[in-house]
Amino acid sequence: MKAEALLSPRPEGLYCAPGDFYVDPVRPVERALITHGHSDHARSGHQAVLATRQTLDIMRIRYGEDFCSQEQAADLREMIDVNGVTVTFHPAGHVLGSAQIAIEKDGMRIVVSGDYKRSVDPTCEPFEPVPCDVFITEATFGLPVFHHPDPEAEIGKLLKSLQTFPERSHLVGAYALGKAQRVIALVRRQGYDRPIYIHGALAKLCDYYQSQDVDLGELLPATVEKSARDDYRGAVIVCPPSSFADRWARRFADPISAFASGWMLIRQRARQRGVELPLVISDHVDWPELTDTIRDVSPGEVWVTHGREEALVRWCELEGIPARPLHLVGYEDEGD
Ligand SMILES: [Zn+2]
Repeated sequence: MKAEALLSPRPEGLYCAPGDFYVDPVRPVERALITHGHSDHARSGHQAVLATRQTLDIMRIRYGEDFCSQEQAADLREMIDVNGVTVTFHPAGHVLGSAQIAIEKDGMRIVVSGDYKRSVDPTCEPFEPVPCDVFITEATFGLPVFHHPDPEAEIGKLLKSLQTFPERSHLVGAYALGKAQRVIALVRRQGYDRPIYIHGALAKLCDYYQSQDVDLGELLPATVEKSARDDYRGAVIVCPPSSFADRWARRFADPISAFASGWMLIRQRARQRGVELPLVISDHVDWPELTDTIRDVSPGEVWVTHGREEALVRWCELEGIPARPLHLVGYEDEGD
């Protein structure tokens, strides 16, 4: 079977004609396979959804009980038949529940990686290379200039700042699904055992992570109304990046604003957002991880879904691996 006959791009997303399903469709469809819970990949309104148990749970938390009409949970590495096509889910290391989806028929195997990373993350299972004929990858940070530092060293900067400015509250902007919990878990790994305050928008997902045995330590709600401002002196408060601009954020005593994102590598972005303490922590592969992964997977061909496709396609060609961009639209990751 030719790869293009097994999977091809449509306006709704990547479509498998023999299996009659889409992967991470951006519009409502009859049957969707979902790689992970970020809102650009996991949308509500599909008829049938096949995903890992954790991704289904996360979709329910975010969209409510009626996020789809019919759900099916996939265990990792379990072979599932969908209309004669074999699909298996493999860990992607991106956020809790995230999976690559391998799609196989008549000796042709295509792996849709979804979003993934290789750097340390105590909150989810690490990425697993899956041999395949076609590896479909994102390229969010697909330029050689994107080289993310060690996330643990970045967390060290936050802890150093807490020591240096013990009277100031530290507001850490982090996306609600994945990044916030990863930042908290990394802070805990470095021995910080005081309560960490969280914005209300993070509560349900943090509770869910804890229910899945991800240890985040003691979390308290950052509801200023109920407490004196001085309670937050020297405290770590984790919040969605958008809340920096809210009235909520102006109530803390002399706060230092930090932001955990791969984009913090670009100083100008940090300055534009008024971020004093940029923490370069990404849930996506940087250029070395991306190219190392393609070498690990050693696919017959590479297709690039979104991001900076041109440089990666060129790199693959120089390595002797046929590659092409898919120009998929609608994927602007909320969790970079
Ligand atoms: Zn994502």
